Amino acid sequence: MHRFFIPPDSIQANQVLFPLETAHQIYSVLRLHPGQAVVVLDNLGHAYTVQLTQVSDKTTSGNIIDVQPILGEPACHLNLYLCLTQREKFEWMLQKCTETGASSFIPVISSRSLVQNLAEVNKKATRWEKIIQEAAEQCGRSLIPELKPVLNLAQVVQQGHSTRIILWEEEHFTSLHQALSALSPEVEQEISLLIGPEGGFSPEEVRAALQSGWKPVSLGPRILRMETAAVVATALVLYELGQ
Ligand code: SAH
Repeated sequence: MHRFFIPPDSIQANQVLFPLETAHQIYSVLRLHPGQAVVVLDNLGHAYTVQLTQVSDKTTSGNIIDVQPILGEPACHLNLYLCLTQREKFEWMLQKCTETGASSFIPVISSRSLVQNLAEVNKKATRWEKIIQEAAEQCGRSLIPELKPVLNLAQVVQQGHSTRIILWEEEHFTSLHQALSALSPEVEQEISLLIGPEGGFSPEEVRAALQSGWKPVSLGPRILRMETAAVVATALVLYELGQ
C-alpha cells in the first residue's frame, strides 16, 4: 500500500483531506481510485489505513478505517553528523541512512569538507527534507528523521550529552561492538555518530573531539568511503543494540 506523511491537521475525526501535493501524487501520478486504500502517517507516531472516497484534481479525501501505533522506529535515537560533500553523495547518505534507521541528520562543515559555504547549504534544506520524507515513506518509518541546521565542526564537538562516537580510521583498538557493549540501557536511548569527509578529519579536529568526550571508534582495518561508513555505522549501531 502507498504511504504518505501528511500534516496532522489534514486529519479530522475519521476523515482525511489530502494536502495538494499528496493529492496530486494520488490523482495524477499513481492514478489511484475511490475505494482503494492508502496508509497515512501523521509524523506523531500513528499509521492510518484510509479508504479513498474522492479522487480528483480539486479534492482528494478518504475515510479512516484503521489506526495502528508507531511502526518501523528504532528505540534508540541516532543522531548522524555528516560532513558535507558533493550533492549526490550527501543526498544518497540521507536516503540510505533514513532506511537504516537514523533519527536526525546534522550537516557539518569541517576543515576538509568539500562544501564550505553555509548559504549554499541552507538553500538545499527543503530538497533534503523531501528526500528524507520520501525515503521514510518508502521504507515504512512512522516518524520522519529530522534535518537539523548545519554546524561547524567546532560547534559539533561541544554538543550533546548522549553517547558520542567519532568514526576515525586511525583508531585501531575500539570497535563499535566494544564501544556499545559497555553502555547501560538508559544511555543506549540516544547515540551520536560523526562521519568525516573524503579527506578525513584533521589531527586538530580529532584532538578537539576527543578532548570534549567523543569516543574514537574503528569500522575495521579497511578505509571506507564516507558514504559507506555512514550507512555501515548506522546499521551496525542499531544491530548491536538489537534494533
Ligand atoms: N582520510 C582518509 C579517509 C577518510 S574516509 C584517507 O583518505 O585515508 C571518510 C570518513 O569515513 C572518515 O573520516 C571516517 O569518519 C569514516 N571511516 C572510513 N573508514 C573508516 C574506518 N575503517 N574506521 C572508522 N571510520 C572510518
